[in-house]
Amino acid sequence: MNSQTAVSQSEPSQADATPATAEAPQNLYRPLTVLRSEVLSPEMRRLTLQGEDLSPFDTLDNLHVRFYVPVDLSLPCEWPTADEEGRPQLTKTQGANNVTMRYYTIRRLDVARGEVDIDFVTHGHAGPASNFARAAKPGDRCAMSGPCGFSVKPADWYLLAGDETALPAIARLLDNLPAHCQGSVHIEVSRPGCEVVMPSHPGLPVQWHYRNSNLASSNRAADNHSVADSPSADHDAGVAYEDSGLSDLPQALASVRFPEQPDSGFIWVAGEYELLRRCQAAALADRHWPKERLLGVPYWRRKADN
Ligand SMILES: Cc1cc2nc3c(=O)[nH]c(=O)nc-3n(C[C@H](O)[C@H](O)[C@H](O)COP(=O)(O)OP(=O)(O)OC[C@H]3O[C@@H](n4cnc5c(N)ncnc54)[C@H](O)[C@@H]3O)c2cc1C
Repeated sequence: MNSQTAVSQSEPSQADATPATAEAPQNLYRPLTVLRSEVLSPEMRRLTLQGEDLSPFDTLDNLHVRFYVPVDLSLPCEWPTADEEGRPQLTKTQGANNVTMRYYTIRRLDVARGEVDIDFVTHGHAGPASNFARAAKPGDRCAMSGPCGFSVKPADWYLLAGDETALPAIARLLDNLPAHCQGSVHIEVSRPGCEVVMPSHPGLPVQWHYRNSNLASSNRAADNHSVADSPSADHDAGVAYEDSGLSDLPQALASVRFPEQPDSGFIWVAGEYELLRRCQAAALADRHWPKERLLGVPYWRRKADN
């Protein structure tokens, strides 16, 4: 990674993972402009962004990007520029330019139209990326570089699991995995009503798990609707309570039936650090599952005060 880029989120730990592709991920810089914003659930928002020459990002081998947002939405930004190899360059040290970086997943890409969709968890802990997504309006500037990160390996059976930050990657995989694949998908969200409409795959049904199963949402997202149609205060109602309960996701993974031949299967788990640790421990206990058929990636870490 270029030492001059604004890095305030550590690289995902992929020590146990072998890249799905032999090619090294690139780090190409693309300025972006917000085209539109859409509410997916009380805790998720999709931004459709426009940029030029997005074709290098059109790969399932590297699902993620480094996403650049303002630190303070009320101040002007000095955005990175691209060096002669297309990599991001900052002209000032991190923060001084009012730009910071977080990792996100490309949910959908339309190279011909120059559009990219990114789905953001709008959590209630004052993060620059979450704040940007919540406030974004057409014409706002941001940027990305990449593509980066790894993906699943070819298999006939998949176990895909994680919290809502992993949901965009799981949805993109469901859009693209061959129809003959079997397995299961397990997603943790904060409470009933926070589910997101997922692509339907014939062999990979989605099961939902709740950190706060006793709290029903007052603004269930039955259908996706545009921000313009929805009162803004309603959208973030989902963060107005303590959201640190434990779901039954690890136990559910422990009871999943694994294939007899691990080489025909692949397990992908991502999300909050501690959740990931518990999921891997529960799912893999006494199974002798080969580590090269597993990719577990911590996407964020809950702090003591959240
Ligand atoms: C490879 C990769 C791909 C990712 N893809 C996505 C994606 O597609 N969509 C997505 O929403 N996230 C995704 N994430 C997670 C995202 O990068 C983090 O949640 C990030 O910390 C959000 O940045 P922020 O500026 O909003 O908050 P930060 O400034 O990083 O954190 C501020 C506070 O918010 C808390 N916090 C951070 N994230 C969450 C959360 N999800 N829920 C509750 N509290 C939180 C932190 O613990 C901290 O206390 C991905 C992460 C990785 C590594």
